[in-house]
Amino acid sequence: MRRGGRRSAENRLGAVARQRMMEGNQLFRSGDYAAAAERFERMAPVARDRGMPRVAAHLSVRAAASHAKLGAQAAFDTWLDHAIADAKQDGDKERSSRMFGKLLKVVRDSPLAGQADALEQKVRSQVGVPPKVPEGEVVVNRSMRRHLPSKCAACGAPVEADEVEFNEDGSVDCDHCGSILQG
Ligand SMILES: [Zn+2]
Repeated sequence: MRRGGRRSAENRLGAVARQRMMEGNQLFRSGDYAAAAERFERMAPVARDRGMPRVAAHLSVRAAASHAKLGAQAAFDTWLDHAIADAKQDGDKERSSRMFGKLLKVVRDSPLAGQADALEQKVRSQVGVPPKVPEGEVVVNRSMRRHLPSKCAACGAPVEADEVEFNEDGSVDCDHCGSILQG
């Protein structure tokens, strides 16, 4: 369904791009980090070129996370730098803090765990906020999940209500594009 004149990411990204982002996440979840990285790396510049720095930052972070899992230091550094540049372009520090916090959590539990402090420093000095690692369990009840939209308003990907992680403030980020599903 297309809505005329609505400048949403859905319109600007299109079905093929959306499919690739979703595949990237599925591959990451199944542990195929090399294939996941390939999807994220292909889509990040597309989002960047189409004026969606937030989506580009999210995808670059996901590429960096994939390389952390693979223990690929040089590629990790490259994609972290892209993610930082995109996050600065986007300018939403709260989101950036949360997004890099999720990356930091992945890095700590990866072959690149030794890079965690360097990552924290780099984000703090270049983005201007510390990465905020999600702590503890967010209490989520069934009604919270029931009230999620069936698809992301930004990228159009279906929302898997049983899978999404709630942030500490009760907000939810789209797994695929990093937009807020619910504030
Ligand atoms: Zn989305």
